[in-house]
Amino acid sequence: MKQVRITVAAMTMVAILLGGGCRRAATQEEGFAVMGTYASVVAGGGEGPPVAGDARICEEKMLENDSPLSLFRTDSELCRLDARSGPGPVRAGRHLQANLELALRFGTLTGGAFDVTVGPLVKMWGFSGGQTPAERVSRDRIEEALRRVGYSRIRLQGGEVCLEATNMVVDLGGIAKGYAVDVCCDELRRRGARNFLINLGGNMRCFGRPESTRPWQIGVRNPFQQAQIIGKVDLEDGVAVATSGNYERFVVIEGKRYAHIIDPRTGFPVEGMAGVTVLAATAAEADALSTSLFVLGMKEGVKVVAAITNGAAVFIPDRKPLEVWVVPAITNVFRAGAGIVPQIIVTAH
Ligand code: AMP
Ligand code: MG
Repeated sequence: MKQVRITVAAMTMVAILLGGGCRRAATQEEGFAVMGTYASVVAGGGEGPPVAGDARICEEKMLENDSPLSLFRTDSELCRLDARSGPGPVRAGRHLQANLELALRFGTLTGGAFDVTVGPLVKMWGFSGGQTPAERVSRDRIEEALRRVGYSRIRLQGGEVCLEATNMVVDLGGIAKGYAVDVCCDELRRRGARNFLINLGGNMRCFGRPESTRPWQIGVRNPFQQAQIIGKVDLEDGVAVATSGNYERFVVIEGKRYAHIIDPRTGFPVEGMAGVTVLAATAAEADALSTSLFVLGMKEGVKVVAAITNGAAVFIPDRKPLEVWVVPAITNVFRAGAGIVPQIIVTAH
């Protein structure tokens, strides 16, 4: 039986959990709204005890994560940190510290393509609570904002964090949902759950199996026709998957669409990429990785994928006809849809 407290707007999600038909009876799914998006917990019917109230437990954990890390709650630890930008350190709780540590790691790994201090630009382009600009943002404004961007100006030491310049804005939107999924997975496992999948706005991680005979499987959305999938990915125990897409959140300025992911090196929203789906060992890494690869593109992105334990990726460039590019590491778990021939990215050594 399927329980859904609210209608899970699966169509807005970037990767879809695949079940269907009579097989669904083996799983129980419950969805709820949290962290500005939809979450769901699917309990598998494989071996091992089901955990009572697992969706409630996850909802609580997600809220516990959201309250210190949200840019939309003026009393959050993150907003207090941004407000103290320049003057001095603030104490950081464990979730904020963990997110910042990971953010700094990805900042370094991607040469600054992933940068959580991109907040002033994110807002300037109309995301994360910013007003949609009436016209294309001017170079002067971008240059002014860029002076406040730079992950290396986050100082994290002994449980305290300091932003070294004034008016910096840390935006954890590219990482915090994945991190929250890991926190929930740890909690459900601690309580004995063995077969489940957690999805928070397209950031997923699964354990065990939905049924003893088959693995968890997700569909990768076609960014140009979102009701369709371009292929399926089988997920092994513990694997996380995340997608960043230009169709998830965007603004239209003077008739042109701008995606919600900003290239911190130029200050402009990224163009040229329609969707990136990644696999990684944790949901936090998958979340950071998908945003990073969206900015870096295929050529630079594959080098970062190679540096991540169990990292793998599917890239869909923003051009037609549809092209699907995959790294060799994903070929044994990715099955392309009918009529789609994935191209394998060959990296030069
Ligand atoms: P995702 O959907 O996981 O790719 O995350 C996108 C969100 O991450 C945006 O809505 C912003 O909040 C934030 N963001 C945008 N650009 C970057 C960037 N270059 N590095 C880190 N976070 C970013
Ligand atoms: Mg992300």
